[in-house]
Amino acid sequence: MGRDRYRGPVANSVETTETPAPEPADGGPNRSHPLALAPVSSPPVSVDGFVREFLRELNFGQGVALSASTVNDQYLALARTVRHYLMARWLETMRRQKETQAKGVAYLSAEYLLGRQLGNALLATDLTDIVADGLAQCGIDIADLRAQEVEPGLGNGGLGRLAACFVDSLATMSVPCIGYGIRYEFGIFRQTFVDGRQVEQPDSWLALGAPWEFPHPDSAQEVSFGGHTETYTDSDGAERTRWVPAWTVQAVPYNYMVPGYQNGRVNTLRLWRSVATERFDLRIFNSGDYEEAVRSQTFAENISKVLYPEDSTPQGKELRLQQQYFFVAASIADFLEDVLPEDFDLTKLPERIIFQLNDTHPVIAVPELMRVLVDEKGLAWDTAWEITKGCFAYTCHTLLPEALEVWSVELLGRLLPRHLEIIYRINEEFLEEVRERFGDDELRIRRMSIIAEHPERSVRMAYLATVAGSKVNGVAELHSQLLRDKVLPDFNEFYPGKFTNVTNGITPRRFVRLANPGLSELITESIGVGWLTDLERLRELEPFAADEEFRARFREVKAANKRRLHAVLTERDGVSVSDGHMLDVMVKRLHEYKRQTLKVLHIITQYNRVVSGEVAAADLTPRTFIFGAKAAPGYKMAKDIIHLINAVGSTVNNDERLEGRLKVIFPPNYNVTLAEKVIPAADLSEQISLAGKEASGTGNMKFALNGALTIGTDDGANVEIRQLVGDENFFLFGMLEPEVEALQAAGYVPSSYYESNPELRRAIDAIASGVFSGGDRHMFDSVVGNLLQEDRFLALADYAAYIEAQDKVDAAYADQEEWTRAAILNVARSGFFSSDRSMRDYIDRIWHTPPAF
Ligand SMILES: *Cc1c(COP(=O)(O)O)cnc(C)c1O
Repeated sequence: MGRDRYRGPVANSVETTETPAPEPADGGPNRSHPLALAPVSSPPVSVDGFVREFLRELNFGQGVALSASTVNDQYLALARTVRHYLMARWLETMRRQKETQAKGVAYLSAEYLLGRQLGNALLATDLTDIVADGLAQCGIDIADLRAQEVEPGLGNGGLGRLAACFVDSLATMSVPCIGYGIRYEFGIFRQTFVDGRQVEQPDSWLALGAPWEFPHPDSAQEVSFGGHTETYTDSDGAERTRWVPAWTVQAVPYNYMVPGYQNGRVNTLRLWRSVATERFDLRIFNSGDYEEAVRSQTFAENISKVLYPEDSTPQGKELRLQQQYFFVAASIADFLEDVLPEDFDLTKLPERIIFQLNDTHPVIAVPELMRVLVDEKGLAWDTAWEITKGCFAYTCHTLLPEALEVWSVELLGRLLPRHLEIIYRINEEFLEEVRERFGDDELRIRRMSIIAEHPERSVRMAYLATVAGSKVNGVAELHSQLLRDKVLPDFNEFYPGKFTNVTNGITPRRFVRLANPGLSELITESIGVGWLTDLERLRELEPFAADEEFRARFREVKAANKRRLHAVLTERDGVSVSDGHMLDVMVKRLHEYKRQTLKVLHIITQYNRVVSGEVAAADLTPRTFIFGAKAAPGYKMAKDIIHLINAVGSTVNNDERLEGRLKVIFPPNYNVTLAEKVIPAADLSEQISLAGKEASGTGNMKFALNGALTIGTDDGANVEIRQLVGDENFFLFGMLEPEVEALQAAGYVPSSYYESNPELRRAIDAIASGVFSGGDRHMFDSVVGNLLQEDRFLALADYAAYIEAQDKVDAAYADQEEWTRAAILNVARSGFFSSDRSMRDYIDRIWHTPPAF
């Protein structure tokens, strides 16, 4: 492969007109040339300078004149222009990192839910105003170009968004980090509704051009699969193993900039695309089978073709394991061969890098690093294992047993035979240690084995990660405690000190500054600058909660955000957000444990109260309910619930007896772009998962920081939000986790709640009698049947408490001054949920990677 690096005289040059120094005698990079060491300079920034650059990109990059350009031409030219302003910082960051070899993080994640890039790049470079002015001079509204960007939806939900927030924070904190992942050709599907049912469309996010990525086909890595292993004796007479794979693909890196917030640092996100290897093609081409050669190419390119749209429930498909191995093998090879210097002493690897495993998806990296160290680098097994244990840490994201990933031994052995052998040996040695500690406690051994025997022999990836990881962390206090006590108690006992907590966070740059410019301006006016990178400073807002004038301005910001949302939704979906309504929002993936059905039951309850005449429509607190949720395409119950929400919505919205006081809207295709519009407009944040099921949640944090009050269970990070904002500024309801467990142990009978609560019975009967389905009594059989017979997530058990809490919400909303006071305190006290704080915790407790300036 053509991976020879430039060996000419100028190591770095961006937009420079200076003459390069003469070629050094040895032909290597001339590190003494002034341009090689001095920071490369950014192009000068002025409105005129920007306009020149922009037009140059439009003309020379897009090949169109301004007068003939489309909005997409203009967007692409703008993106490339903004990119220029980050380029010097990016190259300088890479050069310094290469030079200092400071310890850094390699974040391994199968998903990055990045959201749009343009706004963030403008914010990072502080160019928003200059660019808006310059574009206006060209007769272009910057908002139109922003709206043109298709977000890269390379993730499902919270887990992928977390990865995006973390890399943003690390860049902003000047911590060396490289994010590794997969460049899916199709990200999360685009959701549409047909007759209220979800229909999935492919997400062709690359179709109109991808101006933020830098492909480097010349730096491709080879990744192999299949075949067999064989043993041989090496030249020193030692018995060794080698893997003889059956097929190989190329992993082509696509680099993305991860700019820090106005700090001159730009880290790298490296996403891998699979393509056929030249060798593979050639062999078949030479055999004369053109069609087969093209087919093999398609086959290879399948690996990075599409993101699996499952959230929380892995499907165990072979292609998925191929994706996982594909990206971690490429990443480890990239790091060892291209990032590290050539003569690096591998025993020092843990002092140079920590591979953070974002859930179990990248855990196959553990046996891969072992394979490389032992089979390829020739290290002794024990030495390699010491290195490996020092290089990995594992973040667990779930408590649902069905979400704990396993791979059948049959599949793993077929696809990665050498890795299976390595896993067996790791397990053997691990279980030997367990025996030494606990004696022949066979039950314990079976419980702790990395290999499960039932229902089929398979590898428990979470156990492998726990054995190999230097640390294992949960993602909120409650979750980490349940992880220690309920999910992995044997491991917690065996490895004292290995388990820790890092509560999740969100980046305030995207979810406050970009999403809510009105609030950001109000904050800055009140407490000055600096809070955006030191979010605990929001505490200084507390005294303003008592200030009537401030409260009025805070309310005006919220009202303006609602008008903005109204404009977005009118344009996008032709629906309106009613004036003067409380905005009650539940946006997140559709999953039974998150309990969207509980929300629906509340809406139906309010509806029934009016149509039965118990409550006059005029006495209802006007509310607009907003849902946003994608269901995994194969998750039938989740799709049925979406159908129900839409059906209830169209009935409620068209029933004149409600006098327009209740409204349900469900804009399709909830994504980061929509989140940035919906969350700043929300009054009420719905965080109503069954206690003990939501590991953390991050949506909950976004709402609190944007001044919505939460109605929520004692679950995930809700617990910490409530502790921080105060009980009086949070609507808590529902069973606690131990109560949930007790009820389930006693034998939960959902129908008994139906029998004994008339309002609940009326709500469920309304669904079952066809009120929301034009008289069709069977349309929602599956949902009704599930609620009455199984109700795995105890929605009916929490119904009464939920309705009571919602009635309190209505009463509280009537006092707008008090409500606003509570909303302000939510903002002021939620600074803890900055992902900058999460990163500090990871650095202190797990990574030990100080900022490198
Ligand atoms: C934050 C976010 C999520 C996670 O939401 P939860 O309520 O924590 O499940 C999912 N999707 C998108 C687009 C997000 O921005």
